[in-house]
Amino acid sequence: MIEITSANIEKAINKARQTKPFVKVIAFRRYSVTNKTTGANYTVKFTKINNRKFAECDCKATVVCYHIGASIGAHIVLAEQMHTAPAA
Ligand SMILES: [Zn+2]
Repeated sequence: MIEITSANIEKAINKARQTKPFVKVIAFRRYSVTNKTTGANYTVKFTKINNRKFAECDCKATVVCYHIGASIGAHIVLAEQMHTAPAA
C-alpha cells in the first residue's frame, strides 16, 4: 500500500494520460485497469486511513503507478457522487 501525495499522483496521472488505459469500476474504491496495447490487466484499490489516502495496485511497480493515476479520476467522480447523492 502506497500513500498518495499530490506530487506522486500528479506524475501517475500524467503517465496515465499518455498511456490511456481502460478503467472499469469493479466496486467502490476498486478498479480494473487494462493496458489497451498489451492487454495486461491490474486491480487498483483505494483506502482512506485517518484522512490520508492510500492506493494499492497488483502490478510490479512499487511507486504510485499509472494504473493508480488512471483510476483516481474515476474514483474522485464516484466518491463525489456518493457524497452529494440525496438520501433515499
Ligand atoms: Zn499498477
